[in-house]
Amino acid sequence: MDITTDVLIVGAGGGGAVLGIALARKGIANLVLEQAGGPPQGIRGEILQPNGQALLHKLGLLDRLPAGASKAVRLFHFRKSGGERLCTIDYEMLPSPFNRALVMWPNIVHTTVLDHLQQENPNALRFNAKFLSLLRDGKNIIGVQAEIDGVPLQVGARVVVGADGPFSQVREAMGISASLHRYKDSYLVAVLDTAEELHEAQYYVGQQTILGLFPAPGKKVYALYMVSSDSLPSLKAQGVAPLREKWKSIAPDFAPLFDSFVDWNQTAYMGTGRVRAKTWAMDGAVLMGDAAHGMNPHASQGRMQAMEDAVILADVLEECQKSQDWSAQALQSFERARRSQVTMLQQLADEEVFFWNTGNPILSLLRDRVFRTMDCNRRLKYQVLLATAGLSAKSPFGWIDRFQAAGFLPDPQADHIPVHTPLA
Ligand SMILES: Cc1cc2nc3c(=O)[nH]c(=O)nc-3n(C[C@H](O)[C@H](O)[C@H](O)COP(=O)(O)OP(=O)(O)OC[C@H]3O[C@@H](n4cnc5c(N)ncnc54)[C@H](O)[C@@H]3O)c2cc1C
Repeated sequence: MDITTDVLIVGAGGGGAVLGIALARKGIANLVLEQAGGPPQGIRGEILQPNGQALLHKLGLLDRLPAGASKAVRLFHFRKSGGERLCTIDYEMLPSPFNRALVMWPNIVHTTVLDHLQQENPNALRFNAKFLSLLRDGKNIIGVQAEIDGVPLQVGARVVVGADGPFSQVREAMGISASLHRYKDSYLVAVLDTAEELHEAQYYVGQQTILGLFPAPGKKVYALYMVSSDSLPSLKAQGVAPLREKWKSIAPDFAPLFDSFVDWNQTAYMGTGRVRAKTWAMDGAVLMGDAAHGMNPHASQGRMQAMEDAVILADVLEECQKSQDWSAQALQSFERARRSQVTMLQQLADEEVFFWNTGNPILSLLRDRVFRTMDCNRRLKYQVLLATAGLSAKSPFGWIDRFQAAGFLPDPQADHIPVHTPLA
């Protein structure tokens, strides 16, 4: 081996970078290989949900986010395309202090985490470092073959962590089968300018129409617009004007905002997919984040769940180091701790895709009816909010709840907010 470490992390994304910090704080030697040449650039809207805020606070990183890089948003209004309000979700229902969503400046959370990784774990993060294959001794995984700055290198490790995103090469090298689903709808994210600062988020749903407007720091607004995957070239060929007019028809109250959309450089494309890896662990290697469980952005939890993985996996790896047991059996306690919440979120996001993205008029009517019923039902609103905020591993809807949400059954508990037991 050219170099050795205890934990070799492939990918310095949302999960791998946090894992590098958490392990360094436990005194566990680790190396993080990232194929990119540096921190991510470019436009992407990002919402830090309450569980993400709590987690960064615990790590001492929430206060390290630059001043003015986030915008606290409490009210999310769901509206019909055209403007009619259907339902309002109020984050103030949640326990304080994280009873808000934080709309972040692009990449700022990730850059802050990477800065801390470099400060707290000097030389652990290698950019331009590409994972190529797993090294084995018989059946045991003993490290990786990598290429760092174009130079081939063998890195020995007690455990290899595949934190390399939805198209994980580590997962493939481990021979773990995964179902990869590409949704037919994706999103265009645009950064718009507003003359008057906005404080509340708007989310418009219609027949095969979604337009979200999220107030961002510095008199900016993120627009999130559903487009069918692969349709971007034809959309761009038409120029910005037709899209601007389309947005005005969906959200007429915000018409002046859309006049600030003048250039495709204000936009970025966000593809959508779901990953379900059959198992996450084997002797000497483990998957985390999108490599194990990528989910549709409707969950608004992709980064949060990768960070949650990192914190739990760091605890499990600490136990592995104490017992010198890096077997699949030891690593599986990580999967057992995490699988129920990510599975629930994947299912919730898929239900939202089914009802929110629909072009079917009957399903659209049912969806709007559910939104209206929910607007008068604090209990159901709270349950949905808890799940979206990442504070519950339980599905927000049981079967009876579904009939109540659709307005087919009365709900005697509609005003009752259940006692919340925080996730451990
Ligand atoms: C455009 C966009 C917008 C998003 N917006 C949000 C949002 O608002 N909120 C939210 O919660 N989630 C959002 N997500 C999802 C979120 O970014 C992911 O769920 C989260 O980053 C997953 O973290 P991860 O560490 O598992 O994977 P990633 O963050 O994808 O990191 C994987 C890393 O592995 C590296 N890598 C891959 N292959 C190799 C290799 N062979 N060798 C070395 N390195 C490799 C990649 O370069 C990458 O840096 C968004 C995703 C996209 C694409």
